[in-house]
Amino acid sequence: MVETELYDLLGVSPNATEAEIKKAYRQKAKEHHPDKNINDPDAAQKFQEMAAAYETLSDPQMRHIYDEAGLEGLSGGGPGMGGVDPADIFAQFFGPGASGGGMNFGFDFGAGPSRRRGKGEDTVIPHSVTLQDLYNGKTLKLSLEKEAVCGTCQGTGGKSGAKPKPCAICDGKGWTTAQMSHGSYLSSSRVPCSNCGGTGEKIREKDRCKKCKGEKTVKEKNRQEVVIEKGMADKQRIILAGAGDEEPGVPAGDVIFVLTLTPHESFERSGSDLLTNATITLSEALFGFSRILITHLDGRGVKVTSPPGKIIKHADTIVLRGEGMPVHKQPNTKGDLYITFTIEMPQDEWFKTVDQKTLLSLIPPKKPDMEPLPEVVTTVAFEEADIEAVRQRYFPATDFFDRGFASQFGEGDEDDWEDDEDDERFGGPGEPECRPQ
Ligand SMILES: [Zn+2]
Ligand SMILES: [Zn+2]
Repeated sequence: MVETELYDLLGVSPNATEAEIKKAYRQKAKEHHPDKNINDPDAAQKFQEMAAAYETLSDPQMRHIYDEAGLEGLSGGGPGMGGVDPADIFAQFFGPGASGGGMNFGFDFGAGPSRRRGKGEDTVIPHSVTLQDLYNGKTLKLSLEKEAVCGTCQGTGGKSGAKPKPCAICDGKGWTTAQMSHGSYLSSSRVPCSNCGGTGEKIREKDRCKKCKGEKTVKEKNRQEVVIEKGMADKQRIILAGAGDEEPGVPAGDVIFVLTLTPHESFERSGSDLLTNATITLSEALFGFSRILITHLDGRGVKVTSPPGKIIKHADTIVLRGEGMPVHKQPNTKGDLYITFTIEMPQDEWFKTVDQKTLLSLIPPKKPDMEPLPEVVTTVAFEEADIEAVRQRYFPATDFFDRGFASQFGEGDEDDWEDDEDDERFGGPGEPECRPQ
């Protein structure tokens, strides 16, 4: 026995007999029927899970698999996997039509969580934004297409006075039965009738509305404004209530924009804080600076003066208070901006033009040899390597070079390399395992 979740759902012990399981489900199903628990938003989910639990435990073979290997053992047949129609199982006990209205629970089981009855389909549109957009805010003017209730027939699908007839395919029930396979067993489940779209009614061809051809809705274009507010987050949803598809007799669905942030080339965002990098020269690192260090996301130049006497070292970081991202809904409040420094060393060309001896005497001395000397010392050649080429070859999909390659490169996956020969660290055909997380 690896787990008891399904038994727990039905409130029985794992040693329960078939009869006890049957009895327990019968009671629970009545108690938790969604029609009797309209105020409980989770009722349908609970009911479905119980039906699935019963389906599994009432089949001796599946019960055995569950006892041995748990839900994982039942390939895709577990509760809540959408493979079970609770209406069918309920009907086994209480007969077809037991819940009244031809077993129409008013819920669309198995069609996924996004589908809600009583409202048109929602339309989800991913929209790419830049960090500038989220910093400055932006208004988009878009032309959207949606299903709108046909104005000619007012959504009836027929000419005026035309009466719909019961659908011939589903006998007016609005659903048909489909066989589904779950590994080794079959289950039948109820699917909306495709001929009548689940309504159970169909208008004769000659009586159909000319404009929508009996479809009840027509495609309609309309203009929408989408306001991206300052400080909005990546993955944030902007909901245009009622701007989605319409269906006759129910409120229209929503249009939902999901913002997707495109990475910025020099700024990184963390909540309301920003991180960027500035490159300063060796003389600035030693003698300070007072100049525009960066161009901000709104195009402003940001001038910073370093304190006199302060030597700035590689990777030193400063914080500019209140220069981060605007806080959503409070655009006058901003987070902080962190700037890390890269020190640009002088070029070889410059070096040739100076009095190197004097320079050497002015700067801190070189490092002495190691004391005590290691027993074995190997002298090797100095050879430059093109680290960008190494990246292209071994890590084509990562862009972590800009974000401190050295630190990430050295850490994390060293364990994976332990068995490798040192000189083969970069060798071997493509080593995705070595990619830092
Ligand atoms: Zn029409
Ligand atoms: Zn039908």
